[in-house]
Formats: sequence, C-alpha cells, structure tokens
Amino acid sequence: MPPHSPYKAYSLSNFRDIPQMAMLPEEVKFDIEVVGHVLPFKTNSFVIEQLIDWDQAPDDPLFVLTFPQRGMLRSEHYAEIAGLLQEGADASVVKVAANRIRAGLNPHPAGQVSHNIPTLEGEPLDGMQHKYRETVLFFPSQGQTCHAYCSFCFRWPQFVGQAELKFASREVERLVEYLKANPRVTDVLFTGGDPMIMSARHLAEYFEPLLAADLPNLRHIRIGTKSLSFWPYRYLTDKDAGEVLALFRRVADAGKHLAVMAHFNHPRELRPEPVRKAIRAVRETGAVIRTQSPLLAHINDDPALWSEMWDTQVDLGCVPYYMFVARNTGAQHYFAVPLVRAWEIFREAYQRVSGLGRSVRGPCMSANPGKAQVLGVSEMNGEKVMVLRFIQGRDPDWVHRPFFARYDEQATWLSDLRPAFGGTSFYFEEELEQFYRENLRAEHSEDYE
Ligand SMILES: *Cc1c(COP(=O)(O)O)cnc(C)c1O
Ligand code: SF4
Repeated sequence: MPPHSPYKAYSLSNFRDIPQMAMLPEEVKFDIEVVGHVLPFKTNSFVIEQLIDWDQAPDDPLFVLTFPQRGMLRSEHYAEIAGLLQEGADASVVKVAANRIRAGLNPHPAGQVSHNIPTLEGEPLDGMQHKYRETVLFFPSQGQTCHAYCSFCFRWPQFVGQAELKFASREVERLVEYLKANPRVTDVLFTGGDPMIMSARHLAEYFEPLLAADLPNLRHIRIGTKSLSFWPYRYLTDKDAGEVLALFRRVADAGKHLAVMAHFNHPRELRPEPVRKAIRAVRETGAVIRTQSPLLAHINDDPALWSEMWDTQVDLGCVPYYMFVARNTGAQHYFAVPLVRAWEIFREAYQRVSGLGRSVRGPCMSANPGKAQVLGVSEMNGEKVMVLRFIQGRDPDWVHRPFFARYDEQATWLSDLRPAFGGTSFYFEEELEQFYRENLRAEHSEDYE
C-alpha cells in the first residue's frame, strides 16, 4: 500500500480547516453550520481526498453524502437556527431549539424503540432488536459511531446525543442466551453505527463467545458496515487490520457464514484502489460481501448510477442485495424519491445489468409491518394500481403475498398508500393494529410507519 494520510475526522468545530473548503463560498459553510447544529455531521480525510470531486462541490453527490445541505432542514427550522447563530445566541439556547426541531423529525421510525425490543425471561434486552423471525440485530456499545456520517442516515438521533436512544449492549452473554432460547433465529446482524469502527480486540469480545457457544441454529453472522467506502484502510493498514481479517477467517473456520452487509451509495465509492484492495482482502477471508443502499435525491437518483454500481460490485465479487427507499425520518423530505419514480429507476437499472446483478431487491421500504417492495405499476380492470409485496414481515405469513394500492405518484412511504379496488384496508392492517394494542406504546399506533 502506498503511504496515505492518517485518519482525521472533521466535524462542526474544525471543518473550516479542510483545505478544499477554501474554494467554497461562505454561504455554503454557514449552511453546514446551521444544519450541522440539528443533524449529525462528521467526515474524514479519506472521504475528502479520495471520494469527493471538489470541482463539482457543493453539488457533488459525494459532498452531499457527508456534508449537511441547507435543504435538509425545513425553511422555518433553518431560519430559526440561522437567526440564533447570527445573533450569537448562547450554545444552550441553540441546543434547546435544535432538540425541539429533532423531536419533530420522527426520530424513531418503524417502531424501533417501541416494538422491536426482545425480552428474555421478561427482561427487555437493551441493545438488541428482533423484528423478523430469523434475524436478531445486535448493537455493540463500542460500535455506535461511524468513520463518517451519511447526511441521510436514519439512525441520526443516536449521533446527536439523544440519550433515550440507547441501542448499545456489551452483553454478548445475554445474546447467547437469547439465541439458545430462540432456535428459529439463524442470523445475528451486528449493526450500529458501524461495528467496524471497533478494534479487533473488541470485535473478538463479541465474536468469540458466539462461536464458542457452539449454537447449532446460528448459521450467519452479519456485519452492517460502511467502512469499505469510508475507511478501507481498516482492512489494509490499520495496526490491527491483520487481526480483523484473522477474526473473519475464524468465523468461517467455525463453520459459520460471515456476511458483510456493505453500504455503497454511488459507483464512485468503488473506484479508489484502497477500496478495491479492501474488498479483495475481506473476500479472501471467506466472507461474502452483499451490498445495499437507499435511493436518494441529490446523490443517486439516476438509473445509470445504479446499473454501474451493481455491475461494478459483481465485477468485484460482491452480491447486490437491497435498494432501499429513504426512511420517513430526519431529512426525508430532502432525500425522498416518490415510490413510483423509485420503481422506474430500479427497473431501468435492473434491465441493464447481467442476471448476476439481479440478485438485488428493491425499491424496498423498511416500514413498521415489514420490508415492503414496490413490484411495479399495473392496470387491472381499468384501475391503475401499485403492486407491492413484503420481503420480510412482522408476521412471516405476510411474506411474498402481493397487495395492491391505488396509484399515487406522490407517495413516498407505505403509510401514504391506500388500498386499490375500493378496499378499506390492506390485509395486514388488522393484525398490525392488534400487535400495537398488545404492545405498550399505544401512542405509536395511529399510523404505521
Ligand atoms: C432488514 C432487516 C433485517 C434483515 O432482513 P434481511 O431481508 O434478512 O436482510 C433484520 N431486521 C430488521 C429490523 C431489518 O430492518
Ligand atoms: S455509516 Fe451507516 S450508520 Fe453510519 S451514518 Fe452512514 S448510514 Fe448511518
């Protein structure tokens, strides 16, 4: 590996030191400050030097990927924070305003906090979520930050110190007990933040007990990560890079499948040589890299970008997995692509790639009832409809059963859709209502997200 700049993080306090920032007008820097007081902001030396095309900034999609944009706040919220900063208001006053704005941005979409917390012998298991039968999500406490923050991230509240969102666990023993008690769980997904921010030693503290427990039902260990794009040196030159790769090999040696759920939003992220080398190094351990990304206005709402991304991923030995719809939280209004348009983009890109790239599913909404895929737009008995199915369901019986919604060009989320053919509700709604009633947080039950 040729020498490279060491990891350096930039946030609100030091982003003006980034040499390339000097090229940008003061208004852009002020926007970053205003929006960065409400939504999390962090970028790093690799993103700055090897991903962003500074000649295209501030419109460059990879600039938009980590730098806050004015449009991410509604104009009244922008005006409020901008006004406070301009009049030199006290930091505590800005914070109160920022917290009030955050609370109105649906910080806990899809029932993450209220509906998905598993229990063991009646005790809630903090730092875990269990929504779909086969897969438990585990949030290791040292993995709850990232090498940089994506401007659109749906986990944004946990990066702005919203304390009530305590998705963090050190309790791998409890995870092992839970897996013993729930033999239908086959997958544990380590997520965050980005678990690959952790040292090899910390990673091993979670992985080794899982492997040592010799759980026959546990077949797949997954890691959700954006490190291949945001800091590929994690697998190349970091001082414990070799240990990380050796740990990955131990998972395969223990007879488990290690699935790296890699997050790439734009084909340019796959171009730098260190990214390609990191992908190769991870694959050589026996891990399989699957790729996923939301579809995002201002970043990747163009079918040519997706077909290039999927083609390149297949070339590099990765498996395209999901195209998501931007979630209904945070700056969704800025990044959202309407569902009908999302389907058109997906379809156009899907048609262009080899069958090897068509392992991808999308566009897919991680909504409260499940992962709902828009299969397409059709016409039946003279009515224009949208056809959807669940890829995952809160009730496994919902999976792969098509349902039909009235055609709606503006809809950006499942909750915007209404049943077609004069129906009054979708087949899953009654059971979902019942589920809400049985769960404590009744205030979340008015609508499904
Ligand atoms: C997406 C998701 C999973 C994993 O779903 P797969 O389709 O198996 O990749 C698990 N749990 C939750 C809560 C999810 O949103
Ligand atoms: S890397 Fe993942 S968790 Fe971290 S900011 Fe980006 S999308 Fe969010």
